[in-house]
Amino acid sequence: MTRVLVASRNAKKLSELRRILHDAGVAGIEIVGLDDVPAYDEAPETGATFEENALAKAADGAAATGLACVADDSGLEVDALNGMPGVLSARWSGRHGDDAANNTLLLAQLADVPEERRGARFVSACALVVPGGAVTVVRGEWPGSIGRKPVGDGGFGYDPLFIPSGGDATAAQLSPAEKDAASHRGRALARLLPVLTALAEA
Ligand code: IMP
Repeated sequence: MTRVLVASRNAKKLSELRRILHDAGVAGIEIVGLDDVPAYDEAPETGATFEENALAKAADGAAATGLACVADDSGLEVDALNGMPGVLSARWSGRHGDDAANNTLLLAQLADVPEERRGARFVSACALVVPGGAVTVVRGEWPGSIGRKPVGDGGFGYDPLFIPSGGDATAAQLSPAEKDAASHRGRALARLLPVLTALAEA
């Protein structure tokens, strides 16, 4: 068994990667989270891009534990805001992780923006760093648009405002399985599969 650290305490992120590996028939990898390894200093996310943040987190985790490490960074890019909130998504309203305040501010900023310019995408960058070995960074995107009011009570973050392309429902109205199958994070993790497969076989 090759142990791979996912630099997260979010049980959903760990199980999502376990499920993707399982569905792809990749055996031989044991996914562990930050709560399963000795604590180490976790640097704040200061990068200008999702890729920089994901890579820094994965490199820190690999250096601290000696394990291959996967890390992700994600957020929402809104066309009418020139790609913001971007890497500032979690703290857009000024308070880290205040989803309701972030959504209220975003809606106010877009109040006068017409339908045809409300395009947006969720983005996830995932990095895999193997100690003394490969460094891989991939990106997954989920295109859509920003609605006029919050709808739905599933998901988290900007999900109640985000209407994935091809439908009328917000991400907060999708079942967890539907969201995972379409989402930016699922798409990015799927792109790591070839490297994880090689690691399992090494
Ligand atoms: P993190 O990369 O998991 O820290 O996410 C950063 C921020 O981006 C979150 O706090 C949310 O505001 C936003 N975000 C990332 N992924 C999603 C998603 O799938 N739905 C809604 N918001 C998201």
